[in-house]
Amino acid sequence: MKSSGLIDKTLHFLVHNSFLFTVIVMGLVHATLLLIMLIAGVMPLVYLNAVSVIVYLFCTVLSKFGHIMPVYISILLEVSIYSVAATYFVGWHSGTYCFICSIIPIIIYFGSFLFKPEKRWIIALIYTGNFALYIFLYFRFHDEMPVYELSHAAGSVLMIFSSFVAVFSIIFYNTIYIYTSESERNSLEKKNVQLSDDAHKDALTDLLNRRGFLPVMEALMKDERSRNFCVAFCDIDNFKRVNDSYGHDGGDEVLRHITKILRNEMQGCDICRWGGEEMVILMRDYDFAVAKEKMEYIRKIVEANPTVFYNKRIPVTITIGLEENKDIYNNPEELIKVADERMYYGKKHGKNIVIHK
Ligand code: GH3
Ligand code: MG
Ligand code: MG
Repeated sequence: MKSSGLIDKTLHFLVHNSFLFTVIVMGLVHATLLLIMLIAGVMPLVYLNAVSVIVYLFCTVLSKFGHIMPVYISILLEVSIYSVAATYFVGWHSGTYCFICSIIPIIIYFGSFLFKPEKRWIIALIYTGNFALYIFLYFRFHDEMPVYELSHAAGSVLMIFSSFVAVFSIIFYNTIYIYTSESERNSLEKKNVQLSDDAHKDALTDLLNRRGFLPVMEALMKDERSRNFCVAFCDIDNFKRVNDSYGHDGGDEVLRHITKILRNEMQGCDICRWGGEEMVILMRDYDFAVAKEKMEYIRKIVEANPTVFYNKRIPVTITIGLEENKDIYNNPEELIKVADERMYYGKKHGKNIVIHK
């Protein structure tokens, strides 16, 4: 597996389990602190960390069942209480105030899920309370002798660990925030492409509709180098009768079948579902004589290949009006109109025919 794929999968997993991951990590942080305090002999904080671990065990269960708000409140209370107690017992300089900083990303990230935009002032309020607590601890304990004087080694370990937790928290929540917004942007872009596709294509046959087709033809007409093309207007003969005899689904199947034939035989051409049972084919770089032959061939292929529908064979024929691009045509509609009139002439003169003048 490529490493970018692995990172992507891991981030996807973390984003979708971010609350659970958070409470598990918080539990592990307190288990580590419990160990440090035990070695340092700070018993009140050993007990408090034990309580914190139990709190996060409960939070893990709550997160599993989707009770996010109680978990959010528990994190805020637990971190606040622990920071005050730890600063009191082991002093400001042990760095436990880092835990207050470490929950800032949690307050903001999860708050954005929990509170609707009009309630986001609550996040600002919590954030302000958090900052006030930080300032309070600083003024209250900065110059105070702690209850337990830690050894230099224990103090260093505690300081490094607390700082690491704060830095990890900032990096982690920023990373998943970036990942979330990037995946949302990607999925929005995909949806936009899909919407634009839907707007330019016909749902039944997946051919271009007029909105998708006309700009293509217009661009060809405007460009001096691409003006040598032909247009065929095809209409299925007696299609109403197909619907009457085989039902609308039978008619739809015929439309799909004819589309398949046109796609196979007219590769490289732009094909448009102009209307109900009418299709327009744009043949780029086709001489008129070649286009005539090709359309005659298409007419015969359609005639010789009935649609198979629930073990029945539905024979249809098509009438085609053909015209080539000329300087007299100023826009696609004028050229298509002539092809359409020729097709109509074919209808009046027996159908199943190609008319080219
Ligand atoms: P002609 O040979 O003169 O072209 O006769 P026609 O019966 O093919 O033409 P007419 O315009 O009388 O009927 C076209 C029919 O095509 C009527 C309409 O119900 C049907 N139709 C249009 N769109 C669809 C579609 O998407 N699916 C199906 N099954 N039928 C459609
Ligand atoms: Mg028609
Ligand atoms: Mg018809």
